Amino acid sequence: MKALVLEKYNQLKIKEVENPKIADDEVLVKVKAAGICGSDVHGMDGSTGRRIPPIIMGHEASGEIVEVGSVVSEWKVGDKVTFDSTIYPLDDWFTLKGHYNLSDNRQVLGVSCDDFVRNGAFAEFVAVPRHILYRIPEGVSFEQAAMVEPVAVAMHAIKLAGPEASETAIVVGAGMIGLFVIQLLKVIGCKKIIAVDIDNEKLKMALELGATHSFKSSDSGLKDHILELTNQRGADHAFEAVGISETVGLAIDNVRKGGTVTLLGNLTPEIQFPLQSVVTRQIKVQGSCAICGEYPAVLDLIADGKVNVDAMISKVVQLAEGAGWFQRLYNKEKGLFKVILKP
Ligand SMILES: [Zn+2]
Repeated sequence: MKALVLEKYNQLKIKEVENPKIADDEVLVKVKAAGICGSDVHGMDGSTGRRIPPIIMGHEASGEIVEVGSVVSEWKVGDKVTFDSTIYPLDDWFTLKGHYNLSDNRQVLGVSCDDFVRNGAFAEFVAVPRHILYRIPEGVSFEQAAMVEPVAVAMHAIKLAGPEASETAIVVGAGMIGLFVIQLLKVIGCKKIIAVDIDNEKLKMALELGATHSFKSSDSGLKDHILELTNQRGADHAFEAVGISETVGLAIDNVRKGGTVTLLGNLTPEIQFPLQSVVTRQIKVQGSCAICGEYPAVLDLIADGKVNVDAMISKVVQLAEGAGWFQRLYNKEKGLFKVILKP
């Protein structure tokens, strides 16, 4: 099969490679659409240590089953599917407690690190264990189904935070995940959804997709604006989708006493932490990792037109053009959100 292989750091090449062999509990999926994730772009240069070459990346994908393993009975050839990015063990303590995203020895499709190598979906075919598959509902395209993963990441954070319709929320960082957080807060009906970013384009998009207010993070009056919108208290919730000291500080600074800050971004491994502000204002700060069962709900929201994933798809191109588009994303080309590759 043809695959887009990261041969060396910063060197992607279309190559002829052997088809993946499936285990008894896996299916072979003919990939129809695979999105380039920020983690692929960041990982390509070796900076994250999570894309050690050679590796076929790609964990946001969809396709059609063309072969099923010997013990797989619930899936058949021709089924249209998408799949979780995480391959988790079924007998792990965390999985059994309902937290498969935290399970030990979980692998991520399209990732290679010191612990494992698992080829992903930037190829004609990908092997996928049956327990991470989800059926694509009627009316949802392969391209839309390849967008489920980032929406599910946003939904997981929202599920942990549990904002209610009467509450206000700030979303710091209006990139892909932040914009999906905004859309989901709108679905919940949150009264005020305040987007904060450095980029005017992204703030414009945030307003189009459901934010009620938007501010630049550089705005010196930011805190006053947020106080004004929240009865001088601060927001009930903040969602942080960047992961640097300044933005985490901004999120903590602008929630009310007793408010909740949910962290999704992890751009830097360590940050400065406003300890006294958190302790003396009794702020709840929590991390949100990946996805834990949100796929079916997200697929329904897309099918019902309640979450707009099309707005986030900038380009759909052939797999063979992948290397060039990776470079454009790496160069942070303005206005470029999701690029989807089609093998
Ligand atoms: Zn991703």
